[in-house]
Amino acid sequence: MNFETLKNIIEDNNTFLLTTHVNPDADAIGSEIAMYRILKSLRKDVYIINHSDTPYNLEFFDTENIIRIFDEKKHKQLFDEADVLIALDFNSANRVVSMQKFFEEFKGIKICIDHHPNPENFVNHYFVDDSYAATGHIIYDFIKQTKLVDLSYEIAYPLYAAIMTDTGSFRFQKTSSQLHGIISELLETGVDPGEVYDKIYDQSKISKIKLLGRTLDTLKLIDSDRIGYMYIMQGTFKELGALESDTENFVNYPLSIENVLLSLLFIELKDGFKVSFRSKGNIPVNEIAANFGGGGHTNASGARFHSSIMIDEMPNILNFTREFFNNYYQDQNV
Ligand code: 5GP
Ligand code: MN
Repeated sequence: MNFETLKNIIEDNNTFLLTTHVNPDADAIGSEIAMYRILKSLRKDVYIINHSDTPYNLEFFDTENIIRIFDEKKHKQLFDEADVLIALDFNSANRVVSMQKFFEEFKGIKICIDHHPNPENFVNHYFVDDSYAATGHIIYDFIKQTKLVDLSYEIAYPLYAAIMTDTGSFRFQKTSSQLHGIISELLETGVDPGEVYDKIYDQSKISKIKLLGRTLDTLKLIDSDRIGYMYIMQGTFKELGALESDTENFVNYPLSIENVLLSLLFIELKDGFKVSFRSKGNIPVNEIAANFGGGGHTNASGARFHSSIMIDEMPNILNFTREFFNNYYQDQNV
């Protein structure tokens, strides 16, 4: 990727707005914090504004307490005056939900740094390549190639967390010897892998673990036990005092069962619902999500539905998924 343009834009401008997708994960927040620290070290004015609250297990990243939740009145002036808006870890304007209009109408330079396939036409400059394991991995390459800043512990820490989480702790397909070489360099700065893992995954509230139990109780296997699905109703969140962000990773559990190749998790939201898809091998679940207006990666995708009722739509989504899955296998066998 040619990062010179990005370097030039950074050098030539002063005020930067960073944002990421709804329901941010550690690649999203880690990339924002790393980019914030890179730009700050160059004495830029930097603001992070997100649609969603930061999940409680990721709050520890934000040691500068810089992340703000979008508020039209409070942030209008900033959107009017900032020079550059950087979209991190997403590739379509609807992923910033309440901020979408402001994002689209932003008059300055819009940049996307991301590793999802098929970006929408929504910014001026794309630093996008879906062969990267994480958005944090792209940011690492950017600073290494351009030598814009040194790789300090403060920058390496969120980049390590971004790559660790988006590779499923170094097991997904994009985990390579070359990636481990990068990880080695990040660890050289003093990052403690056990500490990062513990902060992100092993400091849960008991309500999350109880929610996991209730979710696993709904698990059903269909299509000769090759597809697994689960669901969570709003009432269960309320009863347990659990949050949507607590469901991160739940959808992977069915894939730990023998023969299961595709997993779905339906989550009822305050308004509408979302579905997460995960797969093993080459089953492109982003194509299934795309059919419902969503998107994502080959093995991890999702879609949100704002104006329909989950239990009414579940049969359609499951039927489409089964058909897609079976056609996919027929095609592979030809
Ligand atoms: P999750 O299931 O963890 O919410 O999302 C998995 C992946 O699917 C994310 O990395 C994201 O790329 C993609 N994704 C989830 N929901 C949506 C959506 O509503 N629209 C699009 N375009 N992608 C989504
Ligand atoms: Mn990512």
